[in-house]
Amino acid sequence: MSAPSDHQRMEKIVSLCKRRGFIFQSSEIYGGLNGCWDYGPLGVELKRNVKNYWWRVMVHERDDVVGMDGSILMNCAVWKASGHEDTFSDPMVDCRSCKARLRADQIVNKKGEKQCPVCGGKDLTAPRAFNLMFKTYVGATEDESSITYLRPETAQAIFVQFKNILEVSRKKLPFGIAQIGKAFRNEINPRNFTFRSREFEQMELEYFCRAEEGMDLLAYWLKERLKFYQDIGIARDRLHVLDVPEDERAFYSKGTFDIEYEFPFGRQELEGVAYRTDYDLSQHQKASGKSLEYFDEETKQKFIPHVVEPSAGVDRTVLALICEAYSEDEAPDEKGKMETRVVLRFHPRVAPIKCAVFPLLKNKEELVAKAKEIVNLLRPHMNVFYDESGAIGRRYRRQDEIGTPFGVTVDFETLGEKDAVLRDTVTLRDRDSMKQERVKISELIHLLSSRIA
Ligand SMILES: [Zn+2]
Repeated sequence: MSAPSDHQRMEKIVSLCKRRGFIFQSSEIYGGLNGCWDYGPLGVELKRNVKNYWWRVMVHERDDVVGMDGSILMNCAVWKASGHEDTFSDPMVDCRSCKARLRADQIVNKKGEKQCPVCGGKDLTAPRAFNLMFKTYVGATEDESSITYLRPETAQAIFVQFKNILEVSRKKLPFGIAQIGKAFRNEINPRNFTFRSREFEQMELEYFCRAEEGMDLLAYWLKERLKFYQDIGIARDRLHVLDVPEDERAFYSKGTFDIEYEFPFGRQELEGVAYRTDYDLSQHQKASGKSLEYFDEETKQKFIPHVVEPSAGVDRTVLALICEAYSEDEAPDEKGKMETRVVLRFHPRVAPIKCAVFPLLKNKEELVAKAKEIVNLLRPHMNVFYDESGAIGRRYRRQDEIGTPFGVTVDFETLGEKDAVLRDTVTLRDRDSMKQERVKISELIHLLSSRIA
């Protein structure tokens, strides 16, 4: 159980997310839709930055990985072969007293007697398998032959395109195929804000290799992925690695690590790094009758490659970043009185807005013109925000609360009115330390770019 302070912290985070436009309930004006969320103007930037950085380090900065973007609807045969149609389910129990539908592992066990956690009732059904895939029909007829599912994971598109991508990319083992995209699971009890949602996004890499390389690559990718989270600003000591015991792993997996994060609502999984052997490609080769083998030109051998899969949740990572960044400290207000300051201490790399630009006063034409000039100068290089309304201290606070790492203020020194030496310089304010430095406008792009890279 999490402490009350963690509970309060989470409530503050949820409220900030809505108030400042990070995350809204889906279909809110109609009462929402459970397990679905919309990202607002700031949330979408944060999410995009996470995906772009993942793509950069997993695809662009490597010679051995290529990308793809698969369709969400696939031939139903994919889900038969992958095992999802038969086994992708949670055991579920109904409470006959209050009609609650519960996951079997959520049933309370009181002195050996099973109880409904909602009403305390003891009249429960036996557990039944509940498939987590969303079923739909393709085309005009709604019968057995037109059934398919919204994909519950992005990985299968990679496996079924393995041969095509191998041919066009001319990659040699080991190599990987990366994909970012939406996936859908009809969770029985969506909970913990965006953590367990019914519609979510995944960032998955399938890294194909020879059987004898599998275990080493599992260790390699675990290390790489831990580095990724630290590079976007998550402290190593709030990340945990769970070595999933054999009896809890998928039967075909020779090793699985869960990377977990210390959320205010408890330690929960961000990513699974799994060595899946040759299970997936073998299943699809068997079911499709098409060869998914790799031909090794050196040894003249043909075999089905093994695969190591780092599979991360985008929404979970975004939530972890917000939880990690949220902090409160003390800062003086306009009159010098100390007040609580809410700050999102995002790593500049993922911050939705990189730099805010302020004219000291909005009724001084030269200040405004100069500030807008700086906005135009920075805009091709980063996401910037212009704000002229309210006292400067208020404007800083608004940016602190959404995690903007840098603030540029145009004042009378900028215009050279006080000291000619200071002409065309601005103050650059650091969000975390609140310290200000005087920098030349001509150096801004270089200075800021190097700090947000
Ligand atoms: Zn009940």
